[in-house]
Amino acid sequence: MRQQFGAPGDFAQAYVIAHEVGHHVHKQLGIERQLRKAQHGLATAQYNQLSVRMEVMADYLAGVWAHQMASAAAT
Ligand SMILES: [Zn+2]
Repeated sequence: MRQQFGAPGDFAQAYVIAHEVGHHVHKQLGIERQLRKAQHGLATAQYNQLSVRMEVMADYLAGVWAHQMASAAAT
């Protein structure tokens, strides 16, 4: 990550892991299955739009994790 994306440091790496954990949460809650079902038969633009939404949701969950870590560090 440091060389390819210019994102040095533990936080950037931990954030990527938190994003992937967000996808795991999607699976556990059945969100991914619902999204794949909704994507079935869609045109490419709409299909991709739903994929982007799932990525943004994973980023949101990673942000929740980051906020919790920052709050814990401040106390
Ligand atoms: Zn992702």
